[in-house]
Amino acid sequence: MGRAFVYVILGGGVAAGYAAHEFVKKDVPHGELCIISDEPVAPYERPALSKGFLLPEAPARLPSFHCCVGSNEERLTPKWYKEHGIELILGTRVKSADVKRKTLLTTAGETISYKTLIVATGARPLKLEEFGVTISDADNVCYLRNLADAQRLVNVMESSTGGNAIVIGGGYIGMECAASLVINKVNVTMVFPEAHCMGRLFTPKIASYYEEFYKSKGVKFVKGTVLTSFDSNSEGKVTAVNLRDGTKLPADMVVVGIGIRPNTSLFEGQLTLEKGGIKVNGLMQSSNASVYAVGDVAAFPVKVFGDIRRLEHVDAARKAASHAVTAIMNPDKSIDFDYLPFFYSRVFTLSWQFYGDNIGEAIHFGDYSGTTFGAYWISKGRIVGSFLEGGTKDEYEALSKMTRLKPEVDDLAELERQGLDFATTV
Ligand code: FAD
Ligand code: NDP
Repeated sequence: MGRAFVYVILGGGVAAGYAAHEFVKKDVPHGELCIISDEPVAPYERPALSKGFLLPEAPARLPSFHCCVGSNEERLTPKWYKEHGIELILGTRVKSADVKRKTLLTTAGETISYKTLIVATGARPLKLEEFGVTISDADNVCYLRNLADAQRLVNVMESSTGGNAIVIGGGYIGMECAASLVINKVNVTMVFPEAHCMGRLFTPKIASYYEEFYKSKGVKFVKGTVLTSFDSNSEGKVTAVNLRDGTKLPADMVVVGIGIRPNTSLFEGQLTLEKGGIKVNGLMQSSNASVYAVGDVAAFPVKVFGDIRRLEHVDAARKAASHAVTAIMNPDKSIDFDYLPFFYSRVFTLSWQFYGDNIGEAIHFGDYSGTTFGAYWISKGRIVGSFLEGGTKDEYEALSKMTRLKPEVDDLAELERQGLDFATTV
């Protein structure tokens, strides 16, 4: 049994939704495109899962956050796919791929063939078992990657009101979930191995602002150590976490955000991999000309920095997906993807954006005891990265434009003095 399509998108997340939208803008004929996803719902904006979805009042629920509402575009509901002749094959996992034969085999035993494949399989959360910690599949230990995880987290959170949550990991999931837990009246202790939160992006000074803010909301921090084991009760529920430094923290629930691994396994040995992802060129085309890769799973050339990177952020997934579809549908018009890395987060009343790269020396500016402050990163005499908390739309746009230009700076004291004005006047 089998079906054949001209275009197949493997994966039904953010990149898949934006790719489908671009295919329709390019008038893909009805019946030529399908999306295969192991999730039971049409592509949605994953960032909602750690923000609006976790709110105690008027939480975001599908269909409100289907792609492409995150870019203020139309909302692609199942009806939209039907109207545009796109086959949504949901709740279906692909278990193997043969890029020579151009076929995918599903766990239901169906072979689906393609002329052009877009791999948009995203990533899976790292599990505590991979660090030698057992019973992490207990009912009250939560990971967060998909809708089912988010629904489970909501249920566990609701049954833990007034109790204690231990958040493992000081990255994006840890920070955003900790904020949501506080808003849901759960007491939070964050545990992570680094000296400060968001260790891969924030400077100690930036991190200190957010940690102090979180502390003012009641969050406790246990830094520089990791969890080694859980205590559990006869129902298999975790009751406490034990840390390497000997501390025991009572727990009604645990949220784990310790990083991800791209879903490349279907293509290992068939496509060239780099930086843990599928290596693509500036058209998002892999080492096999019929296979493109976008989103968390793709390692692509970042022109502005002259190297290959894998970015785990939604803006990159959206734009790379559109770019790949343009390259596929209008090859004569296609040019290399030219993307400036962009990351952001929103927690409590706070909101920050980051552009570029955080290498070299950091110059902080603004009022770190107020609500608007930031930093520039200078490498080899040029600004290569910028960060701003509490900016306006225009200020963020100015920051992005300035960072892309990588302006030379020779007087760092003057840059510090000018602060945000430097970006708005370049
Ligand atoms: P995904 O959106 O993960 O989609 C991958 C899809 O492929 C999934 O549907 C998956 O089930 C499916 N799939 C995988 N393997 C198979 C298979 N073998 N067969 C069938 N289907 C398969 N980024 C930001 O920039 N800002 C944010 O605020 C932000 N918030 C986030 C909040 C959460 C909770 C999470 C988890 C991520 C967040 N991100 C954020 C990151 C962002 O969501 C990802 O970078 C983005 O979703 C990547 O898109 P993708 O399409 O590559 O992968
Ligand atoms: P991150 O990579 O952001 O953070 C993982 C954190 O866990 C790091 O601080 C890491 O430390 C730490 N860590 C690693 N191993 C352990 C361990 N054994 N015990 C305790 N801590 C550990 O990943 P997340 O899980 O937070 O996020 C998952 C994905 O979701 C990412 O791709 C992220 O980009 C995305 N996301 C993005 C958001 C946004 O952009 N606003 C919001 C939510 C999710 P170390 O650095 O030392 O390894």
